[in-house]
Amino acid sequence: MYERAARPGGACRSDELTLPGFVHDLGAAVHPLALHSPFFRAFGLADRVRFASPIAAYAHPLDGGRAGIGYNELDRTLEGLGADSSAYERIFSQLAPVADHVADITTHTTLGGREHLRAAVAIAAAVGKIALRRFRSRSDPAEAMLAGLAAHAIQPLPSPSASAVAVALGAYAHGRGWPIPIGGSQAIVDALVEDLTAHGGRIVCSQEIQSLAELGGVAAVLLDTSVPAALRIAGDEVPSRTRSSLRRFRFGPGVAKVDFALTEAVPWQHDDIRHAGTVHLGGCADEIRAGEHAVANGRHAASPYVMVSQPSLFDTTRAPAGHTLWAYAHVPNGSRQDQAENITAQIERFAPGLRDTIIATASTPADRMETWNPNLVGGDINAGATNISQIIGRPRLSRTPWRIAPNVYICSQAAAPGPGVHGMSGYRAAKQLVHDLRGGSHGREPDTAAQSR
Ligand SMILES: Cc1cc2nc3c(=O)[nH]c(=O)nc-3n(C[C@H](O)[C@H](O)[C@H](O)COP(=O)(O)OP(=O)(O)OC[C@H]3O[C@@H](n4cnc5c(N)ncnc54)[C@H](O)[C@@H]3O)c2cc1C
Repeated sequence: MYERAARPGGACRSDELTLPGFVHDLGAAVHPLALHSPFFRAFGLADRVRFASPIAAYAHPLDGGRAGIGYNELDRTLEGLGADSSAYERIFSQLAPVADHVADITTHTTLGGREHLRAAVAIAAAVGKIALRRFRSRSDPAEAMLAGLAAHAIQPLPSPSASAVAVALGAYAHGRGWPIPIGGSQAIVDALVEDLTAHGGRIVCSQEIQSLAELGGVAAVLLDTSVPAALRIAGDEVPSRTRSSLRRFRFGPGVAKVDFALTEAVPWQHDDIRHAGTVHLGGCADEIRAGEHAVANGRHAASPYVMVSQPSLFDTTRAPAGHTLWAYAHVPNGSRQDQAENITAQIERFAPGLRDTIIATASTPADRMETWNPNLVGGDINAGATNISQIIGRPRLSRTPWRIAPNVYICSQAAAPGPGVHGMSGYRAAKQLVHDLRGGSHGREPDTAAQSR
């Protein structure tokens, strides 16, 4: 394995970004799929990495000190929502008990019997219910919570893809929860590296691959890159029809990230937000919808949607004293704007006094995300927009979307099933490779160069 950075891990690395001893996640911080992903379940990730499991996956504060709390126990979530709970209950009551099946279906495209079929029908019904919502409410906490979940897609609201993301994330929230690795997301990478090396794999760091020619006579290549980078590296090996469909693959909006070192925990106005690993900021559904609409149209939102993770509340290894806080705001792709002030203001709106606790910040505008990881083009943390066509055909509509040339595969989140730390893009690409190396020719493109590598 060749890695251009000095350490493996990409957008799942952790490092001291602000002050000595303060460990921050450069990319992924919270792992809804760590316990649900079919690959991680088979790999036994939960036995290899220690996870903290906050009793609430997420929280969603509203102005005036109110909040919706997405407890892992659906009933407790509904109790908190009181009279406003019925829509939320209708969407998640069928899905929470079958969250593993939801993961099987959405990440694995498996329909393995009657139970999966029932789950698939429940998913379709729930996606439909969310897609039909208008997200215009200025007060309903359940509507705000659904908008906050859907906004993970970084797509306009409502839209089919944002609804699908909301359904999956909500099911995991009320299934096994959204855990946080003790010591930082790097712990997941370390477990994978340990397994790779135990199987005889070798990692060469600080080496950027520009072309297949640098790899000599290998039998097959898996590219954990963006789509344009894969096209550059594979060059003329890519058949022209595949090349033209991959050239249509589009990036989505970006994020601007800010990491904080704090003297104490965030002073949330609503006490119960301290139970949640993730906090969705952006206020009511109407405000989140307007913000996501602006970003999808290439404008900065007046009040951006901000994703916050507060890992040190659940993992004391993250800071020698005090706390770490991870946050990003949705912005247009390639934005150069430093969002430190906007993000601080958005948190302070629901946690007055935050500013007094800040001892250091590290801010990365969207256009600078690529400098540490070239897959994050323009700050697109999904390495490709998650609109419905790029969810269904990722990176292109094909029975074998991972294979882009004979014995050359794309295995990053730019390939099915798409974004998130779940290992499934690599798993599916590897399975395709093994199938092809064993002579499986189903759907295979003409292989002219395979024998030479
Ligand atoms: C700010 C941010 C927040 C996120 N939050 C979450 C979250 O909370 N939960 C979650 O599940 N997901 C989250 N994600 C998404 C998650 O990090 C990605 O889905 C995941 O890391 C994708 O894995 P990957 O293998 O496709 O690529 P990456 O993790 O991007 O790794 C690609 C690696 O390939 C290397 N590389 C690229 N090109 C070359 C080359 N030519 N030669 C050599 N090496 C190369 C890169 O240096 C990098 O190390 C977040 C991402 C970001 C950026």
